[in-house]
Parts: sequence; structure tokens; C-alpha cells
Amino acid sequence: MSLLIIRLLVFVVLFWAGLRLYRMYRQWKLGQEHSEHGEPTERKAQNMVRCAYCDLHLPEDDAIRHEALTFCCNEHQQHFLEEGPRK
Ligand SMILES: [Zn+2]
Repeated sequence: MSLLIIRLLVFVVLFWAGLRLYRMYRQWKLGQEHSEHGEPTERKAQNMVRCAYCDLHLPEDDAIRHEALTFCCNEHQQHFLEEGPRK
């Protein structure tokens, strides 16, 4: 009788350990897939450009483009076009 209980306990423990390992493996795999997909967008967001008027560095997405030049705001684009680079 006691042998049967021990066998049952061993079976339950092995099943529980296997389930935990399977879950850990799945989470690890999900994390790997996420980091692979996440990297290119992060790199793109970190692309910095310089304002031609005040030398401020800002993300490319936030910058105002004028031909080959980039500006931090409309005001600085106007100043640059009217007066040239700030001295
Ligand atoms: Zn500026």
C-alpha cells in the first residue's frame, strides 16, 4: 500500500517538474522571438539628427526636414533660411 503511494507521489512530482520545465522553455522561446522582432524598431527610433540652427540632437521622427537639412522646430527652420547658421 505504501509503495503505491510513493509511486504515485513520484509520478506527480515528475509530472509537475516536467510541466514547469515546459513552461520555462516556452517563456524562454517567446522572449527570444520578442527580442528578435523588437530590435530593428528600437534601432530605428534611436536614429538621431542634428538641428542645423541650434545643434540640438533629436530623433529623426521628430525633426523637420528641409532638403538635406534637419531642424528641431519650424522656428529654427525659418531663422536658418532667413539668417543662416547661428554664430
Ligand atoms: Zn533648433
